[in-house]
Amino acid sequence: MNFELSDELVTLRDAVRKFAQEVIAPNARAWDRDGDIPDEVYGQLGELGLMGLAVPAELNGSGLSQLGSTVVIEEIARHCGATALMLCAHNGLCISHLLVAASDEQKRRYLPKLATGEHIGAWGLTETTCGSDAAALQTTAVADGNEWVINGNKMFITNGGKADLFVIMAVTDPGGERGRNISAFLVESGTKGLLVGNKEDKMGVRASNTVPLTFEDLRVPKGNLCGRLGEGYKDAMKVLNGGRASIAALSVGLGRGALEEALAYAQQRETFGKLLVEHQAVQFMLADMAVDVDAARLLVRRAATLRDAGESSRIEAAIAKLFASEMATRAALNAIQICGGYGYMKDMPVERYMRDAKLMEIGEGTSQIQRLVIARWLLDED
Ligand SMILES: Cc1cc2nc3c(=O)[nH]c(=O)nc-3n(C[C@H](O)[C@H](O)[C@H](O)COP(=O)(O)OP(=O)(O)OC[C@H]3O[C@@H](n4cnc5c(N)ncnc54)[C@H](O)[C@@H]3O)c2cc1C
Repeated sequence: MNFELSDELVTLRDAVRKFAQEVIAPNARAWDRDGDIPDEVYGQLGELGLMGLAVPAELNGSGLSQLGSTVVIEEIARHCGATALMLCAHNGLCISHLLVAASDEQKRRYLPKLATGEHIGAWGLTETTCGSDAAALQTTAVADGNEWVINGNKMFITNGGKADLFVIMAVTDPGGERGRNISAFLVESGTKGLLVGNKEDKMGVRASNTVPLTFEDLRVPKGNLCGRLGEGYKDAMKVLNGGRASIAALSVGLGRGALEEALAYAQQRETFGKLLVEHQAVQFMLADMAVDVDAARLLVRRAATLRDAGESSRIEAAIAKLFASEMATRAALNAIQICGGYGYMKDMPVERYMRDAKLMEIGEGTSQIQRLVIARWLLDED
């Protein structure tokens, strides 16, 4: 398998890197403090083509492969996990569900504005009573004439307070077989019966917007069913396979950020008459971090390349997400250690990377769920 980036992807990576260094890096701390990404940033990301990563060019998107998307996410996450998470939820969950399941008419209606950043997307699977066990979700959608009536709730929805379009999973056949009784619906913001709760006060990825949603007799037209009746859960799992590679790429960005910050600090801080970087114990920590980041990036590229080739990448995405997310937390903790007391202060970004990285072990399938997926594959239980 060839993991070399094409010339086009190298050019894109360098452009996104420049944007991340010039626009995101100087502001990420303030966005983290304020718990918000300013609205104009969505427009800037849209102009760069980052709000429609995989959307075809004829629908205003960048038409990128999954490999290309992971390259972009790593560059953004290098400086701001929250901005990268916003992009992951918008592109890798909401838009991805439309690309996987929506009709051509739905794609033409919704994707062009999502792809430019004029509209923001969110995706709702998790509920107050279930996250890992997503097939146990309890939100219902009942047919009534030409409409679906949705009742229930969603929890921890990224971009939820800013979104113009939500993809919502709901049970359409309450007595039906588990996992085959769920369908997906397109819900526009402002629809009567859609109640957006208060923004969550999070440990990390604080600038990303996370809210609970409540549906009270929310009515959508019959035509807002996204995909086939009863296939919403199956489609959601396809979406998550792609999403997991993106979260893994986000983790690589955070891990790389931790390494680069720690290395720069260790090259100018002196202890016992030597630069920190001249102490072999510190060199070994940095070397281990570099190996970790490299290994995680290769796992991400393998999963993305397989998906781009149309092959199954379910296990490879789970392996990449598990390794990369735990690597990012490890790298951020080591970076804080290398930077000593200064690393514990908010003046340095490494404490933010640690808070951001921890989410990657939880969102889009916890580390335990990735281990379950991998173990079932090992035991041939799928
Ligand atoms: C900041 C943030 C953003 C999010 N964004 C979104 C979003 O945009 N859309 C969305 O739908 N969801 C979103 N989520 C939800 C996220 O995907 C869930 O939190 C996650 O899947 C875990 O579900 P849970 O929190 O209900 O934990 P639970 O499922 O209750 O799990 C609790 C603990 O038990 C462990 N556990 C559970 N079952 C098993 C098992 N069988 N074996 C071993 N251990 C197990 C878990 O690994 C975990 O450690 C977000 C969450 C957060 C925190």
